[in-house]
Amino acid sequence: MGKPTGFMDYKREGNPATGPLERIKTYREFHAPLDERARREQASRCMNCGVPFCQYGKPLNGMISGCPLNNLCPDWNDLLYKGFYREAYERLSLTNCFPEFTSRVCPALCEKACTCGLDDEPVTVRENEYTIIEHAFAQGMVRPELPALRSGKRVAVVGSGPSGLSCAYWLNRHGHSVTVYERDDEPGGLLMYGIPAMKLEKNIVHRRIDLMKESGISFVCNCNVGKDITADELCGSYDAVVLAGGSKNARDIKAPGRDCDGIYFAVDFLKATTRSLLHSNLSDGYYISAKYKDVVIVGGGDTGNDCLGTAIRHGAKSVTQLEMNPAPPISRTPGNPWPEWPRILKTDYGQEEAIAVFGHDPRIYNTTVKRFIPDGGKIKAIETVGVEFVQDPATGRRAPHQIPGSEKIIPADLVLIAAGFAGPESYVVDAFGAQFSKDAHSTSIPGIFTAGDMHIGQSLVVRAIREGKDCAEEICTFLKQN
Ligand SMILES: Cc1cc2nc3c(=O)[nH]c(=O)nc-3n(C[C@H](O)[C@H](O)[C@H](O)COP(=O)(O)OP(=O)(O)OC[C@H]3O[C@@H](n4cnc5c(N)ncnc54)[C@H](O)[C@@H]3O)c2cc1C
Ligand code: SF4
Ligand code: SF4
Repeated sequence: MGKPTGFMDYKREGNPATGPLERIKTYREFHAPLDERARREQASRCMNCGVPFCQYGKPLNGMISGCPLNNLCPDWNDLLYKGFYREAYERLSLTNCFPEFTSRVCPALCEKACTCGLDDEPVTVRENEYTIIEHAFAQGMVRPELPALRSGKRVAVVGSGPSGLSCAYWLNRHGHSVTVYERDDEPGGLLMYGIPAMKLEKNIVHRRIDLMKESGISFVCNCNVGKDITADELCGSYDAVVLAGGSKNARDIKAPGRDCDGIYFAVDFLKATTRSLLHSNLSDGYYISAKYKDVVIVGGGDTGNDCLGTAIRHGAKSVTQLEMNPAPPISRTPGNPWPEWPRILKTDYGQEEAIAVFGHDPRIYNTTVKRFIPDGGKIKAIETVGVEFVQDPATGRRAPHQIPGSEKIIPADLVLIAAGFAGPESYVVDAFGAQFSKDAHSTSIPGIFTAGDMHIGQSLVVRAIREGKDCAEEICTFLKQN
């Protein structure tokens, strides 16, 4: 513990964000790092707890509490405070192969469990992580990692999202030769074509992929496994195959009028914007524009928030976000104490921007779509209906019920469905005929493994990285025995 009184001497101070009205003019990240002195003071707030809840990373009351990678936060907070940047980077990269991603997009499960947060503000663990990894990149410490010896074993990874990349990274470190197959034109999965550039600029993804290539990992893009190359071909050419294709089956809203034009899934909208940004700075017009449109986003979660931020940057006329569930409480309830993940109201960057531009919170709770109203085959409005949750006396479960007479019509000429995901696309899984297990990365077919959202369902980047790492360990054991 660097400074025993750090947590009493300094208040929490986050990286300052550019104001909403200014930042919506670009698709750039909008947090500026603190200067070195202030950042080291922030690191000194860490108390090096005897029981560091920040790095626990296990489920508590249905949600993960603490860092799923078991990052050694107290160690590197201390090293950062003392100015030992190289040692801090080395300690950080023991557990986290991609801190530049987590330190930008992770919801900081560590901080929600931090002991300082019990009756004060938690340590800025994620921003400390950002400083360590970006300093390491700037100083040339992050180098390609070529294994000293090759094992002669070959592994194919299907899918280049954070789970596939993490699995490839660790397998390569163990000396196995890895080829990553990706059906998109760029590797990265949702890091590239899901999470908007405002949260994660795409040169950061390119920087990591370049390093992985220099470390000996091969990437084959524009190759849809199960269609362009068969499962048999892949299994015949490799000693092990990892299915890390994500949880891509978007949940639909099955209401009358759903087949009219102008209704899209959120990820298609976000992906098209990022691709057009990368290819032409949005000048090619190959994206779903929200400009001058009344935009309705169905789904009040993080993906919906990303759609808000993107639609506002396009120049939307209005934005509304519908959420079926009630608004969460402002602060923790007695049934949701520290160090559990806090189930509380969060106003994210897109919502902040909507409030700044349109003067009100775009979220409408306890509401869903009753029908989509087209005009000449194109969406023109939505009929919404209020929802209440009623307990079923037989099962004890609370189920949503529409409230008669609560219908409203709201204008909509672009609708984005951000209602979550219902598991992996079946064609990839069917092509291999493998049955997945919750308890292991190995599947019913020896030599075929799975990781990430495809394995555990839609989750978080940090959990996908952990999945890839654990899967690589299982594969190493398998390859030793076969
Ligand atoms: C819009 C959005 C924003 C998000 N924002 C955040 C965030 O801010 N923070 C956070 O922690 N999490 C966020 N998440 C969740 C997070 O991105 C995912 O949990 C994580 O990316 C899962 O990683 P993965 O590697 O399992 O799958 P994915 O990232 O989905 O990658 C799977 C890859 O496999 C490829 N693939 C699929 N099938 C095939 C095939 N047959 N052949 C070849 N390639 C194939 C896909 O094209 C894709 O590139 C977000 C999710 C979405 C949808
Ligand atoms: S990966 Fe996420 S949970 Fe883990 S230390 Fe970093 S910000 Fe915290
Ligand atoms: S719980 Fe908070 S104060 Fe304690 S070691 Fe972790 S980061 Fe530091």
